[in-house]
Amino acid sequence: MADAFATITQRRMTGGFRIDGIEGKNIHIDPGPGALVRTYQFGLDPRKVNAVLVSHSHTDHYSDAEVMIEAMTRGMTRKKGTVVGSRSVIEGYKQFGPCISKYHLSKPEVSILEPSKSTKFGNIKITGTKTVHGDPMAVGFNLKTKDFSISYTADTEYFEDLHKYHAGADVLIASVIRPGNEKLRGHMCTNDFIKLVNEVSPKFAVMTHLGMKIVMNDAKKEARIVKENTGVNTVAAFDGMKTNLDQFIPRQKTLNDFEK
Ligand SMILES: [Zn+2]
Repeated sequence: MADAFATITQRRMTGGFRIDGIEGKNIHIDPGPGALVRTYQFGLDPRKVNAVLVSHSHTDHYSDAEVMIEAMTRGMTRKKGTVVGSRSVIEGYKQFGPCISKYHLSKPEVSILEPSKSTKFGNIKITGTKTVHGDPMAVGFNLKTKDFSISYTADTEYFEDLHKYHAGADVLIASVIRPGNEKLRGHMCTNDFIKLVNEVSPKFAVMTHLGMKIVMNDAKKEARIVKENTGVNTVAAFDGMKTNLDQFIPRQKTLNDFEK
């Protein structure tokens, strides 16, 4: 469905983000604190979410997952929706997780993802991508339709093979939490992201989850630096940011000019 109206709406640093209209599905990724409230605030309906994806067991990525699932299943009254998460999120792994109660997993379809493992969600293939992060089970997500691919690194540090998991992405979304070359274990800084963007060559790159050390003005600057060093259109996600992704879909049948 190349003519779908796909958008990505940032739900604040910790609210995760939503991808709407991809093969007719609305997907909320990493619903951390405030995800539900922000969804309403930005005029979206959490009941219209078809899938909740949770990358790992850190609270800023999962804390609103259960309320989002309640919205998706109309208060747990319907077998509805899909939940995809890391093993730590769904089953728990050592001291990590589980992050969603068995009760909340009883209505939706549930899939556990590992790196390079895939699950079908309608016409979308969701593949786990490898991370190097505090939660050893943490995964990113690659969403692929027949003509479009969005990849999300989740929290990870840069490693040599990272780009292989995101190869072919039209849109690359990454958690970048430090400016310049400020290394922090388990996370990427701007310089890491420049390397990754150059390797993946997406049409559009989004820096999300910008840590407290990057305030908004600086975040814009960091995004500009990425753009200058990669030639790739790059933005720093901000609260409520909404981007029409149709322009990044190859072989697009119709141009949806909503929001232009
Ligand atoms: Zn984390």
